[in-house]
Amino acid sequence: MRPELLFSYFSDIERLSGVGKRTGALMSRVAGNRIRDVLFHLPISLVDRSYCPSVINADAGTVCTLDIEVVEHKPSSNKRAPYKVLCRDDTAFLTLTFFNPRKDWLISQLPVGQRRLISGKVEHYNDQIQITHPDYMVDPTKADDLPAIETVYPLTAGLSGKMLRKAVQGALESVKDLPEWSDPALVVREKWPSFLNALRQIHNPDSPDGLASDHPARARIAFDELLSAQLALALVRDSTVKKRGRIINGTRNISDKIISLLPYALTNDQQAVLGDIRRDMVKETAMLRLVQGDVGSGKTIVALLAMATAAEAGVQSALLAPTEILARQHLASIKEIVDQVGLNVEILTGRNKGKIRREILERLASGDIDILIGTHAIIQNDVVFKDLGFAVIDEQHRFGVEQRLALSRKANVGVDMLGMTATPIPRTLTLTLYGDMDVSKIQEKPPGRKPIDTRVLSNNRLADVIAGLQRAIASGQRAYWVCPMVEESEIIDMAAAEERAKSLAQVFGDQVGLVHGRMKPAEKDDVMQRFQSGDIAILVATTVIEVGVNVPEATIMVIEHAERFGLSQLHQLRGRVGRGADKSSCLLLRADHINKIAWARLKILRETEDGFRIAEEDLRLRGSGEILGTRQSGMPAFKLVDFAAHGYLVDIARDDARRLVQANQKGESGLSGTRGEALRHLLYLFERDEGVRLLSGG
Ligand code: ADP
Ligand code: MG
Repeated sequence: MRPELLFSYFSDIERLSGVGKRTGALMSRVAGNRIRDVLFHLPISLVDRSYCPSVINADAGTVCTLDIEVVEHKPSSNKRAPYKVLCRDDTAFLTLTFFNPRKDWLISQLPVGQRRLISGKVEHYNDQIQITHPDYMVDPTKADDLPAIETVYPLTAGLSGKMLRKAVQGALESVKDLPEWSDPALVVREKWPSFLNALRQIHNPDSPDGLASDHPARARIAFDELLSAQLALALVRDSTVKKRGRIINGTRNISDKIISLLPYALTNDQQAVLGDIRRDMVKETAMLRLVQGDVGSGKTIVALLAMATAAEAGVQSALLAPTEILARQHLASIKEIVDQVGLNVEILTGRNKGKIRREILERLASGDIDILIGTHAIIQNDVVFKDLGFAVIDEQHRFGVEQRLALSRKANVGVDMLGMTATPIPRTLTLTLYGDMDVSKIQEKPPGRKPIDTRVLSNNRLADVIAGLQRAIASGQRAYWVCPMVEESEIIDMAAAEERAKSLAQVFGDQVGLVHGRMKPAEKDDVMQRFQSGDIAILVATTVIEVGVNVPEATIMVIEHAERFGLSQLHQLRGRVGRGADKSSCLLLRADHINKIAWARLKILRETEDGFRIAEEDLRLRGSGEILGTRQSGMPAFKLVDFAAHGYLVDIARDDARRLVQANQKGESGLSGTRGEALRHLLYLFERDEGVRLLSGG
């Protein structure tokens, strides 16, 4: 199935000469184990080695490449003193300094009386001009080994830049260029190189600004990645919307009754969004709508009213939540209301097995259950609805397109889909991730919310924080304590959290509980439950509490090493408090020394609680990777796009993708013929599996 030209892109890196098992394993860790992964592992910076002054003119602190002659080796007099090699050119002496070198190797590399090209950062030390541990020491006849502009890649322990660069070059040589999939007019207008030439330029830059986001080569591959995503989305949208939906026209008799039972009135935004949804429901096409609203903005009740509307029209609804905790929480809050209006709601998660599960499935198939809440368990094959008409996906960004499609396949006719997300993201990212969906926003918070008192404190004020916490707990308050996130390592996160829980328990005894990502769902729920009921007063956690948890009595949020979290993530965490009637506070503990950007970010949090503003600032300050979070499953990873710089390409990619799909519907070329074949390469290359399937399926 996979186009032949792509075989080499997907072959294992260990097939490259010079990449063995060990290097291969290390490279898999930073990039991936296939040729394409290495090609997409972009340099993070460049070292300009093209500056070649005479020794006397070599400025301290700059990287220079010096043409010198080796004069004398001066081995160290004792263990701690460095080994020095004296060199010179016509203008001055240069000292090369080495700590703990292998002597034989140095002598072979730097034979006395020979010329060498030495590259490294020049220092002035006691009136001497010196380079400590030069990056390159090259025989002038092999000057080509010394790149004028050197690429610097993200590495891992044991993997050197040299090994990685060699592998990248090998990878570049092992593949052929691919057919042009982009609009030829666009390629000409933007002066883009071909796909493979773009990669060649990026990995072999010929100028110090070769990595700039607006460099044509960078823009080109960013666009490729965006186009692949948009095309996949457009194809999925096409296949969902093409499926005729049904007209779901509720009588309002149940939903109005629910509204009358609520102890509050809906906000204007909630009403407007419910209106959007109901207008979609009565249409003959299937709905595909995303509701964006900050934590605590009241999305759940809107979803419930929409599901009640569906029940009025006699169709079933499903609510898919990313975690067991969230699913149970939804059940608790929804059941309380719907029990009073005679709707049947049930929950199905991985924990329901055997007889209970069978009973739920039977009642679902007979139509007895109106609303099914659950985790991934509800998209399993044997879960069959009598007549599913409406589906809600909570925390949509945690799920992939595949899961959405799997859920929609459970419906006889096109199902109306409602996504919800509490991650406010900038417009360009919304388009990128949900380009296929219509978007409604809840921007207004329910009335009566008090602002959260947010403070930034140095970690060394820990004792004060604990003293304050003692007073608060004594007066009956509850607190979250979130431990630092260590990138890509759940185990280290967990250790930090365990450590903290232990030390807090010395002060607070059995009032301290702990949740982390490695616990079994049942254990996690149990601790959450005890926090909810007030059995424990301090919940120490890694970021597992990030999503959706609702404990209105919790009024204090402590976040350790706040500078390590993404801004939006901090905002989400803070949103766990300030949900009840009492005044809440958020303490952001920071390391002693943090850089300017980290300061700026923490300051924004202190200034505002507006999630949309925070998201825009986050994008401006740190780029998209941080906003999306590296560990959020289901979030498509964009490796080649710099959203702060490439935002304009998102619109172009979306428009192109929609045009291609629409042209295809009308039977015009676009997805067929040469261009279609090229686009098929694109989808494969970026592993847009659903896109590939839909494109091939016609
Ligand atoms: P979200 O899912 O958007 O984070 P929720 O739906 O969990 O927020 O709502 C947070 C809390 O606000 C819930 O306790 C809910 O009962 C309450 N709430 C929702 N809408 C309103 C409203 N219009 N007025 C007052 N409280 C509301
Ligand atoms: Mg929610």
